[in-house]
Amino acid sequence: MPYRTIIEPFRIHSTQAINLPTREDRDKALGRAGFNLFGLHADEVIIDLLTDSGTGAMSAKQWAGMMVGDESYAGSRSFYRFLDVVQGITGLPEIIPTHQGRAAERILFSVMVKAGDVVPNNTHFDTTRANVEYQGAEARDLVITEGKDPSADHPFKGNMDIEALERTITEVGVERIPLVMVTVTNNSGGGQPVSMENLRAVRDLCSHHGIPFYLDACRFAENSWFIKLREPGYEDHTPREIAAEMFSLADGCTMSAKKDGLANIGGFLAMRDPLVAASCRNLLILTEGFPTYGGLAGYDLEAIAQGLEEVLDEEYLRYRIRSTEYLAEKVSAAGVPIVRPAGGHAVYLDAKGFLPHIPASQYPAQALAVELYKDGGVRGVEIGSVMFGTVHADGTETPAAMELVRLAIPRRTYTQSHIDYVGEVVVSVAERAESIGGYRIIEQAPWLRHFTARFEPV
Ligand SMILES: *Cc1c(COP(=O)(O)O)cnc(C)c1O
Repeated sequence: MPYRTIIEPFRIHSTQAINLPTREDRDKALGRAGFNLFGLHADEVIIDLLTDSGTGAMSAKQWAGMMVGDESYAGSRSFYRFLDVVQGITGLPEIIPTHQGRAAERILFSVMVKAGDVVPNNTHFDTTRANVEYQGAEARDLVITEGKDPSADHPFKGNMDIEALERTITEVGVERIPLVMVTVTNNSGGGQPVSMENLRAVRDLCSHHGIPFYLDACRFAENSWFIKLREPGYEDHTPREIAAEMFSLADGCTMSAKKDGLANIGGFLAMRDPLVAASCRNLLILTEGFPTYGGLAGYDLEAIAQGLEEVLDEEYLRYRIRSTEYLAEKVSAAGVPIVRPAGGHAVYLDAKGFLPHIPASQYPAQALAVELYKDGGVRGVEIGSVMFGTVHADGTETPAAMELVRLAIPRRTYTQSHIDYVGEVVVSVAERAESIGGYRIIEQAPWLRHFTARFEPV
């Protein structure tokens, strides 16, 4: 067959104007925000790749679903539609809606995790780590070695290191490991997928020790597509079949519907164990709401239910994964170091390789993120020592394993020309990389400091 561009499998039905702030506007905005891109007004950004979370475009069918949302406090029809869809995809019986993923995390860990415990994960996402640590437990990352090396090639760089997991269980003891989690795809480790074989190995080890196994399932559909593309034996399986098999291996999951729910808000907690579910529902009522809405409007539940159906569509997933790879190819061709291969939802620029003259103590990934904004109004996010460095009591810091800038692609939002523009900005920053300097932190919070810290150039 002749080569054909993989097109966006949708056409645009309503638009939102993009502001085009000048270089001068952008410098002013940076000063006000203390060089923290979270402090920018969205109207000061040209292409916003801060996150793929809740930033996607909904389909006409999702909007139509919102119009028929049932806002009954208890037992709403929209809840039962949501329940049917989530049970249908996951096969998990207990489904608890939450207002987003971290609420599911907080509730699950409040019920299952206590001080002194250790929770293994391939790589904890920032809110997941913070919620584990908030319980006084240790969040331990056990991704395979290749997953920590941006340039290493491996089809499933998100895989859990099974031997390291086994050693952890022996060292820590089963009583202090309340659950094992695996994040699909591995967001903080480059959006890399986890193979079915690896999930099965985690399942077997957990079963052997009687430890519950939960998925952080935010990007379960993207992970399913990678399994179809890369894992022998799955070529002819549908994404839905692959997702069903992934969930069949788990005792439960946390989910942010702002990712593969294709919704702007929402999430859920799901599990097999009715006793754990009952404790979670008791907490849910305290902060989220009644168990048939969990902090969401009935129309949100409709949008999520419809989004979960659409996200497993093969044409959508083919376009989605290809459009991310397209940006990766563009910047790689210009010699810019990135995490290879491209992740599902984002391209991760390797700031250590990009700016080798900036030491980790001066936050090279932060410097790169600021520069992309200055140059072209492109907002990415630092995933390096600002987000994951360990601050010690004496003020010294242990840097993160990797210094990355994530360019996350909102779902169904930008076109190929927007992505071409982003590639041009990255390449223009790369051409003057040696002239870019580092940053120091002048203000920070005790948790999740990356959201609010203020910086100044060194
Ligand atoms: C986004 C995300 C979360 C948290 O979900 P929110 O909806 O942002 O609260 C947890 N884990 C992973 C892997 C995520 O990407």
